[in-house]
Amino acid sequence: MNSKYFMDLEYEFGAHNYKPIPVVIERAEGVWVWDVEGKRYLDMLSAYSALSHGHRHPKIVKALIDQLQKVALTSRAFYNNVLGLFEEKLAKFAGYDKVLPMNTGAEAVESALKVARKWAYYKRGIPMNDGNIIVAEGNFHGRTITIISFSTEPQYRDGFGPYTPGFKVAPFGDASAIEKLIDEKTIGILVEPIQGEGGVRVPPAGYLKVLREIADKHKILLIFDEIQTGLGRTGKMFAWQWEDAKPDILILGKALGGGVYPVSAVLANNDIMDVLKPGDHGSTFGGNPLAAAVGIAAMEVLQEERLDERARELGDYFMSQLKLIESEYVKEVRGKGLLIGVEIKPEYGPARSFCEKLAQLGVLCKETHEQVIRFAPPLVITKEEIDWALERIRKVLTEP
Ligand code: PLP
Repeated sequence: MNSKYFMDLEYEFGAHNYKPIPVVIERAEGVWVWDVEGKRYLDMLSAYSALSHGHRHPKIVKALIDQLQKVALTSRAFYNNVLGLFEEKLAKFAGYDKVLPMNTGAEAVESALKVARKWAYYKRGIPMNDGNIIVAEGNFHGRTITIISFSTEPQYRDGFGPYTPGFKVAPFGDASAIEKLIDEKTIGILVEPIQGEGGVRVPPAGYLKVLREIADKHKILLIFDEIQTGLGRTGKMFAWQWEDAKPDILILGKALGGGVYPVSAVLANNDIMDVLKPGDHGSTFGGNPLAAAVGIAAMEVLQEERLDERARELGDYFMSQLKLIESEYVKEVRGKGLLIGVEIKPEYGPARSFCEKLAQLGVLCKETHEQVIRFAPPLVITKEEIDWALERIRKVLTEP
């Protein structure tokens, strides 16, 4: 059975909510994947940063299998002997008192919003169920009803109302615009330190730091969604570290699952997280022993292999080489660490056609926001592999 067979099958029996690049992956190892015809590709998307450790990292696969042979799922009706170890490791790793384990990114964002709202009503005295949270234009925090309620992307919203109230939107990168929206009912500010899905948009230097100061001044919560930027991606373990702007609530996902399992989490200190009482919130799968074992291994690999430093060094190299390409198609190359966007001028068509050409040459990446090619390879990539990709990227960006 060839690639076409599997693509047709998905088309016939699956909902059409995606339009994948036409490559049918059969197996993967490290930064490489192979399609059903045996063609090899370099994965430069890494499942939107969820594969920072590479595909099937041996230590993470071992942790998964070892745990699978003991117990995979208990639910939180009972304790298990791995969850506490994961929570301790993650709390210390990220520097917070408490961890709220979830599965997917959107769920963790929803959970963070619930914690923030409850904190505001019970600890900060904001009128019950009447607070607001300020978010940034161009945000992407997931696909649930509440989250799309404050999306500014028409396609993510249209046809899915009525929407959840309680959000205000300010331009991304403009801290004073955020401050102007703060009123006596403001609970906090929720932003991505770099907007990934929004087109790899990097805010002006100092933005995060000023947001920290604004949140302190108004006694509101600073919430960073580091689902995409966290865990080494931008060259620091957490993107907030670039500006020493530690948020009150940190949201992690994607790479926390080591590329093998959905694991997400909300982190905060006791004065915030303690608003949650038994029964307030939960998840059947959140905090299961398999997820916990994988999460521990994922953090260990990040530390042992210094994947944050790799992202910084190789990201600098990759970005400088991309900037050297003299291409009439390119409007801008931007990013941080190994989260890099190449914006294509609209007159040369959408970024999608460039991604399709790259796929034919063996480089997998995906457009984001029409005009931007996003390069976010596994952080375990080598300089030689980046050079291999660069050769092909140069070709696609310079040939007619
Ligand atoms: N937040 C950010 C910053 C993301 O990039 C994403 C996914 O791309 C999400 C949240 C949603 O994560 P998930 O798809 O696991 O729900």
